[in-house]
Amino acid sequence: MADGSDLIHAARRRLLERVVAETRETGDLTGCYVLSAGVLAALDGVPRHCFVSAEQLDVAYVDQPLPIGRGQTISQPFIVALMTELLQPNPQAVVLEIGTGSGYQSAVLAQLARRVYSVERIPELAESATRRLHELGYRNIEIRNADGWYGWEENAPFDGILVTAAAVDVPPALVHQLKPGGRLVIPVGEPSRCQMLRVLQKDARNIVEARAVLPVAFVPLVHDPA
Ligand code: SAH
Repeated sequence: MADGSDLIHAARRRLLERVVAETRETGDLTGCYVLSAGVLAALDGVPRHCFVSAEQLDVAYVDQPLPIGRGQTISQPFIVALMTELLQPNPQAVVLEIGTGSGYQSAVLAQLARRVYSVERIPELAESATRRLHELGYRNIEIRNADGWYGWEENAPFDGILVTAAAVDVPPALVHQLKPGGRLVIPVGEPSRCQMLRVLQKDARNIVEARAVLPVAFVPLVHDPA
């Protein structure tokens, strides 16, 4: 008879198949038709059911965003996979995430990169994600409760920066904190509408090129100008 872990394993397999199919279907827009083996393994390695509430357990492995409290959401797995693929972190990479939320995307990044820094503006979410990731055994993730608009200057520069909330404009500090050769993956646009997922690439001479990837819908990056 199948026990709980078999069911979870099967649900995660089906989710991966869905994510692979969706990547192929959106390839004409994103330029990314296949996910690398590393990204698939990272997605397979993170127990998404540990990042959602008890009421959401049944749908933890459905390819959709889910509420995590305080009006925030854990992103859709396909979007997590695509953004991770676009960031292309290597095992030596030091990456920054803005918008820790549940900590799920941080965990996926931590499977691939050497070190993950993540910034969350809601104290309760920063605390619960820190506790959850520690309990799951992640030791290469550090979370800070702050306004991610300003990045994390003390640990810069970063090989890659991934923003999981929609910014009206690209925060200048994030571009500044990117290494030459580094990549910034960020949804840009007005809240309450579709935003455009963008990839900014900084070359060796610090020249930044941007490309539009896919229309997306994220919760807003909240920033109160000083
Ligand atoms: N990556 C998350 C998704 C989180 S949703 C996950 O895998 O679960 C976006 C998160 O960005 C929310 O938790 C929200 O509180 C946070 N956020 C919004 N504005 C922010 C800001 N200025 N700085 C840091 N975090 C912010």
